[in-house]
Amino acid sequence: MIKKRIGIDFDDVLFSCNERLQPFHNSRYGTNLVKDNIATYYLHDLWKCTKEEAYKRILEFYNSEEHHSMEPMTGVVKAIHKLSKNYELFIITARPPEAEEVTKKLLQHFYTNEIKSWDKIFSKIHFVGTVGGKNKTITKAEVCLHEGIDIFIEDNVHNAVSVALAGIPSLLLNQPWNENETIPDTVKRVYSWEEIVNEVNKTLS
Ligand SMILES: [Mg+2]
Repeated sequence: MIKKRIGIDFDDVLFSCNERLQPFHNSRYGTNLVKDNIATYYLHDLWKCTKEEAYKRILEFYNSEEHHSMEPMTGVVKAIHKLSKNYELFIITARPPEAEEVTKKLLQHFYTNEIKSWDKIFSKIHFVGTVGGKNKTITKAEVCLHEGIDIFIEDNVHNAVSVALAGIPSLLLNQPWNENETIPDTVKRVYSWEEIVNEVNKTLS
């Protein structure tokens, strides 16, 4: 039987990114930012710098101790192991290909005594980000359509809505930067990985 496919965002869906990214930025660039106060998706707005400068700082973050100490979201390890038994899992991230190695390293959090490589759990990782946002070639919605994704999980409301507009059910994981956004009926807001597992099973069965 062909397994149905789940598309999953990486930052602040699989791993708690802003909890490390903002302290990283505070210590290097003198800001005083905390995750719970973030209300924008645009780091150059948050950090009050150019897009190019923000991108440079992100690349610096990928090679920092703060990045390597990023933790999986609450309940995600158990949830992913459960879902991987019945579905094919695809990571679809806006990280650039330059972050491939450090991203895969974090997936070791999902290893068990039996599972010792990321591709035993995830079918594929799509890095759709590009250097400085230039030469953007593909959107997450396009990747979802190309891979035949049956449901998509995201914390960025714009991506969640565009995937839903492409006809793919989409779950928005509640975060400080999306909690005040009004979302269309085609996107379902969820609050935990426990709820995600239930919604996925309900939608795909
Ligand atoms: Mg994200």
